[in-house]
Amino acid sequence: MSNLINLQGVTKRYGSSKNPVLAVDNIDLSIPKGSFTVILGRSGSGKSTLLNLMAGLDKITTGEIVIDGVDLSKANAKNLAKYRSQIGIIFQFYNLLPSLNTLDNVRMGAWAGGKKIDESKAVELLTTLGLEHRIKANVKTLSGGEKQRVAIARSLVSDPNLIFCDEPTGALDSKSEDQVQQILIDLHQKQGKTIVLVTHNPEFENLADTVITMSDGKIVNIKTK
Ligand code: ADP
Ligand code: MG
Repeated sequence: MSNLINLQGVTKRYGSSKNPVLAVDNIDLSIPKGSFTVILGRSGSGKSTLLNLMAGLDKITTGEIVIDGVDLSKANAKNLAKYRSQIGIIFQFYNLLPSLNTLDNVRMGAWAGGKKIDESKAVELLTTLGLEHRIKANVKTLSGGEKQRVAIARSLVSDPNLIFCDEPTGALDSKSEDQVQQILIDLHQKQGKTIVLVTHNPEFENLADTVITMSDGKIVNIKTK
């Protein structure tokens, strides 16, 4: 498998020069296309920071991130926006727009990418995810598990090959957690999506072909099955 993601000497520093926080500390990492990578680590170990850097949501301090040929450290705003429109991102707390219904939240995924809004694609995704009866519902009225499935549909509407997940089941009951895990397994195994998932939950080890452990902003272990 060729590498889709390449990180070299990636560092992210927050805070002032007097009180620096080294959230990500000199990370080298390659992630193959079509893999399912899980990044484990305790709270504060730098997982979300690393994911946000790879998703183009935050700027690296030093080093280089190249994803699918795009050098994120050098990309201008336009190219960065284009890159972000081509990936999927799933967050712990869904990040839905509370004033919109289910369908419009999913269509937002296409608007954000500047693409034509394809309503039938959104409906199809929501149906696959078992939400056809909730299409017109205001997302405020949905359960946590339903909200996360809406967020997954939104992330898929622009058909990304690469999906980033940050604690995707962190706010869910165990039944919804199982559902979301199965959706991620299917996206990987049946559709060949590359998935990078960060979590403090060791249960996700079972889904991964590569398990990376972070501590204090560093990678301390890499296990490939
Ligand atoms: P994790 O996702 O593993 O819990 P984070 O990446 O959220 O870890 O955080 C890593 C470190 O960076 C922590 O010490 C955290 O307090 C710090 N940090 C994260 N985001 C910011 C920020 N926006 N400003 C300052 N410090 C931050
Ligand atoms: Mg986090």
